Amino acid sequence: MFNSSELQHNVLDANTFGEVEYPLMEDFYTIQGEGAHTGKAAYFIRTAGCDVNCWWCDVKESWDEEEHPKVKVDEIVARAKESGAQIAVITGGEPLLHDLYPLTHRLKEEGLRVHIETSGSSKLSGNLDWITLSPKRFKEPLDEIFPHVDELKIVVLKKKDLEWAEENAAKCPEGTKLLLQPEWDTPSSMDLIVEYVKKNPEWGISLQTHKFLGVR
Ligand code: SF4
Repeated sequence: MFNSSELQHNVLDANTFGEVEYPLMEDFYTIQGEGAHTGKAAYFIRTAGCDVNCWWCDVKESWDEEEHPKVKVDEIVARAKESGAQIAVITGGEPLLHDLYPLTHRLKEEGLRVHIETSGSSKLSGNLDWITLSPKRFKEPLDEIFPHVDELKIVVLKKKDLEWAEENAAKCPEGTKLLLQPEWDTPSSMDLIVEYVKKNPEWGISLQTHKFLGVR
């Protein structure tokens, strides 16, 4: 749980929040395929813009925010509400490139729980019920995010990533859900993870189940 209004650094006049615009790659109602909330229906809001540059990224088309339209908060929130979703998941791209307070404040006013999936490489903002940190070595997370993390999800390609997983886990609060996720196009990562989790049962496995289900 995190609420950046408590830090009083980015609260605009609440009446204007609906007019704030975000570069938006896509938004859609689907099933959360990864992590602790796997299998739950959720409205995904994928903001555009990312400066992390993971070479294996499967949403590279999200990187350049200029290639995507700017959409008003009111419009995004209306679509989320209309979908019937109880959870909104803000993802990217790297959503923390944008001040998420106006969008998340309005989503919560409409009764949605708000989750975020982030690399943690930019300043934390928003009114958030669940923070999934998926740190990337290409641009490391800021220290300020660690006390607020609910779930740590590490994408694993090779052995070195398991060391990176432990380095990050050591900075997370007690009780953080710890998950290792194989990189979809690197099948050997699965064997690596299975053996690691058997020896280190504080970790669990996250699979991209939406890809098995054939939903996006
Ligand atoms: Fe892609 Fe996410 Fe890495 Fe950005 S942080 S490059 S969106 S995988």
